[in-house]
Amino acid sequence: MLEIKNLHADVEGKAILRGLDLTINPGEVHAIMGPNGSGKSTLAHVISGRDGYDVTEGEVLYRGKNILEMEPEERAGEGVFLAFQYPVEIPGVTNTTFMKEALNSVRKYRGEDELDAMQFMKVIREKTKQLGVSNDMLKRAVNVGFSGGEKKRNDILQMAILEPSLAILDETDSGLDIDALKTVADGVNLLRSPENATLVITHYQRLLDYIVPDYVHVLAKGKIVKSGDKSLAQELEKKGYAEFTDQAA
Ligand code: ADP
Ligand code: MG
Ligand code: MG
Repeated sequence: MLEIKNLHADVEGKAILRGLDLTINPGEVHAIMGPNGSGKSTLAHVISGRDGYDVTEGEVLYRGKNILEMEPEERAGEGVFLAFQYPVEIPGVTNTTFMKEALNSVRKYRGEDELDAMQFMKVIREKTKQLGVSNDMLKRAVNVGFSGGEKKRNDILQMAILEPSLAILDETDSGLDIDALKTVADGVNLLRSPENATLVITHYQRLLDYIVPDYVHVLAKGKIVKSGDKSLAQELEKKGYAEFTDQAA
């Protein structure tokens, strides 16, 4: 599903990713952990196609196609979803409108009929029920005045509505209380299927008590320096990252 080979990327002329390799197959959940500043968010931004991140070497293939050549809308249409550490606020646009537009643009890309307001509300009702979240947030402007936990819940609701093939969560768990954390985990677990894959980027092991990953990787100084199963996350929680930063230096 995702094949990253020898990825090098610069931000403002500074080399951040330095030879990163990662392969994710359908059905798998991978976690990337690592110290602050190691390049975790840079990796998420490169995959999503955000401006300002220059790939200088290597490739990123999504279902065999070069994702780096796709427009961000195309990536979304092809089933890639990113939930970010800092969700954006969009004053003047209600959440319902925003999510409906997002879903319809993906459906349009796939050649499916767009949903009208009634059909969309049915989808919303189903997803809010599955995630156990209230739909109070839907009438409000996107993320405006939302607490940290509400923003993350909202992001996860959007993910559940879009049903991406590849979901990437960049520290969606940071600063969350246990209930919001469980919503994030429910969202990921809801998507879990033999056809879908998820990449969870996290600084802490806590989220991985609820989302049990198939693989855990340590990202340090711009590359994957160690991979293992879920026990690696527990080991990191005990020992910290010092060993890996030294190794990568
Ligand atoms: P992580 O998510 O692992 O904490 P990041 O990918 O956010 O790390 O950052 C890696 C490095 O790239 C850091 O040294 C950070 O300061 C730098 N960096 C990331 N984004 C930018 C940016 N937009 N402008 C300048 N430097 C950046
Ligand atoms: Mg960080
Ligand atoms: Mg980050």
